[in-house]
Amino acid sequence: MTAPTPRTVAGIGVCPGLVAGPVVHMPEPIAEPAPGLRLSPRDSPAARAESILEASTLVAADLDAAAERATGDSKDLLEATAAIAADPTLVADAQRRVLEDHLVPERAVWEAAEEVAQQFQALGGYFAERVVDIVDIRDRLVAALTGRPRPGVPTWDTPFVLVALDLAPSVTASLDPSKILAIVTDGAGPTSHTAIMANAKGIPAVVAAAGAHALLVDGETALVNGSTGVVVADPTPAELEAVTTAAARARTFSGRGQTRDGHPVQLLANIGDPSEAAPAARAGAEGVGLFRSEFCFLDRELPPTIEEQVTAYRRVFSEFGGRKVVIRTLDSGADKPLHFLVAHDEQNPALGVRGLRTAARSPELLDDQLEAISRAAAAEQAEVWVMAPMVSTVPETEAFVAACTAHGLDTAGVMIEVPSAALLAGPILARAQFASIGTNDLTQYAMAADRLLGSLAELSDPWQPAVLHLIAATCAGGAQQARPVGVCGEAASNPVLAVVLVGLGVSSLSMTPRALADVAEVLSQVDLALCEEVAQLALTAETASDARSMVRSRLPMLAELGL
Ligand code: PEP
Ligand code: MG
Repeated sequence: MTAPTPRTVAGIGVCPGLVAGPVVHMPEPIAEPAPGLRLSPRDSPAARAESILEASTLVAADLDAAAERATGDSKDLLEATAAIAADPTLVADAQRRVLEDHLVPERAVWEAAEEVAQQFQALGGYFAERVVDIVDIRDRLVAALTGRPRPGVPTWDTPFVLVALDLAPSVTASLDPSKILAIVTDGAGPTSHTAIMANAKGIPAVVAAAGAHALLVDGETALVNGSTGVVVADPTPAELEAVTTAAARARTFSGRGQTRDGHPVQLLANIGDPSEAAPAARAGAEGVGLFRSEFCFLDRELPPTIEEQVTAYRRVFSEFGGRKVVIRTLDSGADKPLHFLVAHDEQNPALGVRGLRTAARSPELLDDQLEAISRAAAAEQAEVWVMAPMVSTVPETEAFVAACTAHGLDTAGVMIEVPSAALLAGPILARAQFASIGTNDLTQYAMAADRLLGSLAELSDPWQPAVLHLIAATCAGGAQQARPVGVCGEAASNPVLAVVLVGLGVSSLSMTPRALADVAEVLSQVDLALCEEVAQLALTAETASDARSMVRSRLPMLAELGL
């Protein structure tokens, strides 16, 4: 007798929510057809060349149909992309490569598109901006020619569960929460930017669900629990019932974060795209603790102008008049490279020229950004703080603070994401006005565990005692210099860990807006002395799971709150 096929996969829940819906797989990205791939002697070059014209007509019609359904900017964009697909020059060049060089059509299209992309890149300006569209068309044509599914996020009649081996942050950023019920990925770590983006968009998500891609079947129902990380294929009626009963037990937050005995803890929002500012303000955030400015420009081939930046930043500042907004300067590199600010020749991009380090190579970009922040701040009422990502040394801090001062930005701080900076927090905070701990990267670098790897999720855990000691060292440096220390990594959105962080001396917690209410609720039920007690307890732990369970055992209210 064969064992029944398991229907369940356990991953890591990164955005809470219990939903059920039809499964749709994300198509595999289109790989480059091998160079020199030629027709076989039996092939008719004329017929194969003709297939390129057919593919281009098909792709253009597909895009035109999508443009018909779209409105505004997306409509314009789809129409422009359809025009590139139908471009006779691109088609003729690809056909020539089939007829004269006997390349297979997909390779011919690839090379022809590559040439156009290079020409557009060299022309700069508007043309360089269109390179992404040429790449999109190239992939669509190759898919049509090789009988593969159309690349990119699939469309479906009803909202669906998107299943992928992995998703790039730029794809996750483009997902529409009204169309995507949930995300399930085999890969991606809990603090990967894919997870962070899903959380920011409020799309229930499970990452590191190894085997989910193979288990789940297109069109069949899947049940996704974004809290526990459990994904069930083809759920039973009883299991589906849970979806309806799990109705909004949602707490809300408005006002001020504080412990039961009135110790203030600022509860702030993390935002990426400026469109997230208004919902964050509505969710009651006391301000913005991390505005990831690079998320405004992820798809850009060329640096944004100062004016464009001013417009983007003002959108955020205007939502938080009279309140604090901490804007982070561009953090390009590793899994969120900005095309215009990335080194292409690095073996280990996470350890390469990323974050503030890019300023040494492109000082004018930092200068322009600080100018834009300064102008946007002057035009709005928000209390604007500026911080640099990936600071590792005291001289880097000094240089950044000086650059900010030169632009009239007096509240300049640093992110503590590298262990060296945590250990030197005292001298660093003698120069900087504040520190914000990026626990996602701090954990990655302390544990030498790539935050993108689901298989290393056990190490990518901010409860790791070594990480807690680095946070304690940062807070000690802050106390020594009487400078505020906040946390803006994902750790801040964990209501249990929040108690530990406050006990270690953190004075603000910045998180996805949805987490504000739970964190506020738990803090309002504990005195500062208890926070300090559990923080010291956690520091005595030798493993992450011990730290977690020791702290939980001192906070019995968690069970009552369902946390
Ligand atoms: C962090 O590293 O914790 C952080 C907040 O920055 P990001 O997640 O964008 O790298
Ligand atoms: Mg970081």
